[in-house]
Amino acid sequence: MRVFRPSLPVRILLGLGLGVGWAVLSSTLGWSRFTMDWIAPFGDIFINLLKLIAVPLVLFSIISGVSGLNDITRLGRMGLGMLALYLATTVVAVSVGLLLVNTIAPGTWSDDDQRLENRVAYELWVKDTPGVEQAKDGRCFSCDPGNEAVVARVLKRRQQAPDAMAEAQRERATGVAAQGPLQFLVEMVPSNIFLSFSRALMLQVIVFALFFGVVLLLIPRDRVAPVIQLVNGLNEVFMKMVDVVMLAAPWFVFALMAGVVSRIAGDDPAAVLELFRSLAGYMITVGLGLAIVAFGIYPVVLSLVLRRNVYRRFFKAISPAQLLAFSTSSSAATLPVTMECLEERVGVSRSTAGFVLPIGATVNMDGTSLYQAVAVVFLAQFHLVDLTFMQQLSIVGTATLASIGAAAVPSAGLITLLVVLTSLGLDPAWIAIILPVDRVLDMCRTVVNVTGDATCCSLVAHAQGEELFTKEL
Ligand code: ASP
Repeated sequence: MRVFRPSLPVRILLGLGLGVGWAVLSSTLGWSRFTMDWIAPFGDIFINLLKLIAVPLVLFSIISGVSGLNDITRLGRMGLGMLALYLATTVVAVSVGLLLVNTIAPGTWSDDDQRLENRVAYELWVKDTPGVEQAKDGRCFSCDPGNEAVVARVLKRRQQAPDAMAEAQRERATGVAAQGPLQFLVEMVPSNIFLSFSRALMLQVIVFALFFGVVLLLIPRDRVAPVIQLVNGLNEVFMKMVDVVMLAAPWFVFALMAGVVSRIAGDDPAAVLELFRSLAGYMITVGLGLAIVAFGIYPVVLSLVLRRNVYRRFFKAISPAQLLAFSTSSSAATLPVTMECLEERVGVSRSTAGFVLPIGATVNMDGTSLYQAVAVVFLAQFHLVDLTFMQQLSIVGTATLASIGAAAVPSAGLITLLVVLTSLGLDPAWIAIILPVDRVLDMCRTVVNVTGDATCCSLVAHAQGEELFTKEL
């Protein structure tokens, strides 16, 4: 008798749905503690396993990918194409975000008194902050005698509740912003590769792996053949580990979702709904932007370039990676599965996927950059700060750089948002406003980050003359 066994994406989706259902039920019944103590740890184990595989997989897949290319000019061409695609998709994503946030204007949805108070608080912050000369739009609401009562209210509130967390974040952001412009380049180059491994500093691991791979290409093949063979073999082992871990993925995803949702909901799901309602406009704008990029722009561009409709096949092929991205909120943890999807389900060669995807997971974050653009403008609107077209244009640059600098782990985008706000002369403590809903948006933007990597990887593979989407799934 043949037992009905749904496909992997369907099983993961089931795990995801049941996990959310369980969390809602357990928090309604006041069982959140039980879920956190006895179910959530399995979700952490899953993330640990994926991360365990990710670092060595990045190392070996890049070395094996580069050494498999046989000549350096091909590597250069592919590398340049990849970087151009990564940059272009990020800029497009930021632009979509800016367009939407200006059209929907979610920051103006709250009442005017609240925004006026926010504005005055911002002006007081400007006054107290060395290095910030004047409000971004040059206006001064607190100078208006009509607003005296509001100023007094804000001052009183500040005295009563100095926000320690906001202070700490502010200091941290000013520290980051105070570093020199080439600091990021310095940080990319490892001085001790074992430290880079143990701290999972992906960019450093990538630089080392590229260096190692290129040097392998410079030495006559017969002298380095055993090294290449060893690296290829190790790469196989880590790819197989992904297969093994994925066997239990639906169960792990159940535990992960149950833990994440319980943590957000606690024992009072109604409070979460209330919170979501107050930030609904912002969440809708980010969500809509992400959906347009992931389900509109990527598959359409891919179909146009491949000159056939691959919409369904593309999503069917990468859905396991997308679902994992959603449940783990980490492109790095998802990377092993993204690589497997692209190689086995889309048909990208091992050397292309091994080179393009690890770099993409680290530097190409279209979802993160879109979210940052929306968040900055939303927060500005919410504080009655009008950003000019030129100021918004500078967001394209800063959000792009910040998304490149963001690590591929949960909430990394929120931390770099601090830097974006600071570099634009806005108050970094504003992130406290969007913090409560950030995890949910993080899950969504990570899906877009991973989908963007998969799209660019398919495009690069197509440019290399590889046959894609030939396998029936
Ligand atoms: N969690 C995202 C990722 O891993 C980064 C972010 O926080 O936006 O891709």
